[in-house]
This record gives sequence, C-alpha cells and structure tokens, in this order.
Amino acid sequence: MSDVINALIKTLGEDCVFTGEAISQRATSYWNHAPTTALALLKPRTTAQVSQALATCNTHRQPVVTHGGLTGCVQGADAHPEEIIISLERMNRIEHIDRNSGTATVEAGVILEVLQNSVAEQGLLFPLDLGARGSCTIGGNIATNAGGINVLRYGMMRNLVLGLEVVTADGTVLTSMNQMLKNNAGYDIKQLFIGSEGTLGIVTRAVLKLFPQPTSCNTALVAMDSFDKVTALLNNLQRDLAGTLSAYEVMWGEYFRGVTGDNGHRPPMRRDYPFYVVVEAEGADAEADAVRFERLLEMAFEKEMIIDAVIPKSESERREVWNIREDFEVILPGFLYDVSLPISSMGLYMEKVHAGIKRKWPQGECFALGHIADGNLHLFTRPNTKGDWHLESDKIVYAPLQELGGSVSAEHGIGTEKIRWLPSSRTREEISMMRLLKTTLDPCNLLNPGRVIPA
Ligand SMILES: Cc1cc2nc3c(=O)[nH]c(=O)nc-3n(C[C@H](O)[C@H](O)[C@H](O)COP(=O)(O)OP(=O)(O)OC[C@H]3O[C@@H](n4cnc5c(N)ncnc54)[C@H](O)[C@@H]3O)c2cc1C
Repeated sequence: MSDVINALIKTLGEDCVFTGEAISQRATSYWNHAPTTALALLKPRTTAQVSQALATCNTHRQPVVTHGGLTGCVQGADAHPEEIIISLERMNRIEHIDRNSGTATVEAGVILEVLQNSVAEQGLLFPLDLGARGSCTIGGNIATNAGGINVLRYGMMRNLVLGLEVVTADGTVLTSMNQMLKNNAGYDIKQLFIGSEGTLGIVTRAVLKLFPQPTSCNTALVAMDSFDKVTALLNNLQRDLAGTLSAYEVMWGEYFRGVTGDNGHRPPMRRDYPFYVVVEAEGADAEADAVRFERLLEMAFEKEMIIDAVIPKSESERREVWNIREDFEVILPGFLYDVSLPISSMGLYMEKVHAGIKRKWPQGECFALGHIADGNLHLFTRPNTKGDWHLESDKIVYAPLQELGGSVSAEHGIGTEKIRWLPSSRTREEISMMRLLKTTLDPCNLLNPGRVIPA
C-alpha cells in the first residue's frame, strides 16, 4: 500500500478509506457504467475529516477528484487511476430549516430531491429543479452552478446560495455560512467557488435560500408552428402571468417524436407539430390562477399563436407531460450539448446546425429542446453512421456560436469534455485570470486537475 494511503488510514481511520472492489463496483458516472478506477476512495463524515484528507494529500502531492451524485454531464468527476476520490455521500445531513428567515443549512452530500421534499413538508420551496433531482447533490449543484427548469423565475444555483463552507487544497476550512440576503462586507468569496467544478475547493456545507411553497400549479403542453410564435408566447406569458411563470420548456418536433411513440412515452397530442412547449405557472390562489392560466391559453389559441394544447387534470397526467421533457433516454446514444445564446438568434442557430448535420451525415439527426427563456438549448446529435464522430459533431454545433455571441456551456460546465472549446467562449484574458486564481488557491494543482482550464 502506498505512503499516502497509509497516511490517510492513520489520519481518517480505516472506515473512511476504501480500495479495491469498493472502488471498482462504482460506475464511473450516470453516463458511463464502466467500473471506476482510482488509487483510493475516501468517505469523510465531517468537514474536519475533509480538511485532514486534503492536508494529507497536499503533503504527498496527491491529486484528488470530488464525487457528488455523479450525474454531471461533462466528465468532470470521472476519476483517473492515479487520483484519490473524495466522496461527500456520508455528509448528507439537513442541519437546520429556518422557517422565519427562509433558509436551509445543509451538508454538501444532501440529495436535491431529499431537500426539496423536506422543506415542502414545512410549506417551503427550494426551487432548483432538474431531471437528475433523485441523484445529484447540493455540493454538485453548487460546484456546477446548476440551472434546470425553474431558472426563469428563481435563477441558477448561484442565486440560491447565501453561505458556503469550502475546504481548499491545503486543508484550510473557509467558513462563510452567511444567512443574510445582504452582506457587502468585502468580497463575496463564495461566488468564486460556485461553478468552479471542484477545481478551487471542496464544498462541505451551505446555507440555501427558501421560498414559500406555491399553493397552485398550472401546467399545459402546447404546440406551435413557428419559433417566432414560441418566443412571442413567452413574452406574453411573462407579462400577463405577472411573475408567476415558472417553466417554459421548448421541444423541437424531432425531439418530441423521438421520445414519444412505439419505443417511448404516450403522446398526449399529435406528433407532427414543429414545436411543443411545457408551460407551468405557480401561484397562491388555486381558483383564480387556473382561470387566468386557461384564459391566456385560449387567447393565444384565438390569435393562432398555439395550434393545440393539453392541460393535465391530475398530478399523474402532469408527470406524464414532464416525463416527455425530462426522460431523453430513448434517444440515446447521442452527443449531448448544452449551449447558450440570445433567444433572438436561436431559430437561425438551429437552422445552421440542422443544415450542418445533414451536410455531414445525410442520415444524421439532431434533437433539440431547451430552457429558452434562459437562452439555453440542449441538443442531442446522432450521426447514425459507424465511427467516432464526436469531434466532427462538436464542430458543427459550436461553429455558429461565436458569431451569434453564444457559449459552449449554459449550465453543465466544462469538465474535461469541453476543455478544448473553452477559448471559443472566453477571452484569453479571462482564461489567464482563471489560471491565476487556480494557481493561487491550488498551487500544486491537486484539486480536479485537468478539468475546466486548458493546460
Ligand atoms: C437526467 C439529467 C438531467 C440533468 N438536467 C440538468 C439541468 O436541467 N440543469 C443542469 O444544470 N444540470 C443538469 N444535469 C447535470 C447534473 O445533474 C448537474 O450538473 C448536477 O449539478 C451535478 O451534481 P452531482 O452531485 O451529480 O455532481 P457530480 O456529477 O458528482 O460532480 C459534478 C462536478 O462537481 C464536482 N463536485 C461534486 N461535488 C462537489 C463538492 N461537494 N465540492 C466541490 N466540487 C464538487 C465534481 O468533481 C465534478 O467536477 C442533468 C443530469 C442528468 C443525468
């Protein structure tokens, strides 16, 4: 056994340090089921143990990779054989829910859905929501600055974190468990760690912002025949629903047809429309909210903005609609993208990508959907021809972004998968500043090395 593993066992105890089968039985990630390979797997129970683990690894110049729920989409948590994994899975306590100040204090390993359900029992809402809610962790959500389906109303994870505790590469514990909305006493250091994908520190605890649980929820699946109408309806609903619009999730026709039908979900309406949108509004007056919601959809129908609509009449019907939006397994395997660009350029962008795919692979397909109110599109490309086409597909998807002022990552981050594309979304000066921050906080390059910042 190597010196560093012996030192870790001595510091943390045998019940925190795992080798052999305990590692290989873990799948690499949600996306890659190959066995994990790493030098060791650490499962600390406290911030103090995370600090001891990092101090020991720092002494031995031992690289580490942090594990949350392993649902990240850019291979940032995929362990390399020479790395030691630090998993936050045992640090999964909801420490305190404060109804008066609307905050939850949690450890980083808490599963998102567990937190959502716990605060709901107290009439409160933690609004971050995404398809991986049953597996992803709060620490992972913070590290990736996760977005999801409610960003248009509540913002990304960055907007929902009031306080943070982080352990840096040498084991320093930086406790900044602020509870207040306002605190301008110097730099807001927590924001540096949010979205840094584990390259600057390990998140161990956080104070999160809660909201009152809405008492009404109105959902519809609507169909439209042009992207211009999709954006026009969004503008109208944002104005007329007076801030209660919580989701506006667009699916291009190819995506809807790909995930419904014989091998997929039951389609609640015809499958040959060009665009489908899941619209959801949450409010505080069940009766009045439902009347207003349905009246606005009727008006959109009369103005020929929408051509078909289904309003779920039960929670299970609502879930069926959302499953079509969230459950994309049926169209896999494919290459997944997460780009952002101004809404006004999205129609043109999709035409360019479609044309590029067809030019390269006449049998190829492209399935698109997105949180368009946030300027965020997800694409799955499928060349439908043998060969490793990832790089070619990347070129087609990323090429039009620069001229349209877009970004290669709206919410999934860079990890290792998009590292070569970072310079197309950030200036040389921005990347130099990222390097400077990394070398200042992690001079030996031990935290998630090789992720986010190009060598
Ligand atoms: C079905 C599905 C739907 C998804 N939908 C969305 C979506 O709508 N919006 C969205 O933003 N993402 C989405 N994702 C991506 C993913 O769920 C998020 O990136 C999530 O925030 C990752 O959390 P995790 O706990 O699984 O992190 P992991 O995958 O374990 O880690 C992700 C990165 O964060 C680092 N990390 C993890 N925990 C910590 C910590 N405590 N401290 C420091 N670094 C840490 C890891 O090293 C890695 O670099 C989806 C994924 C799936 C599978």
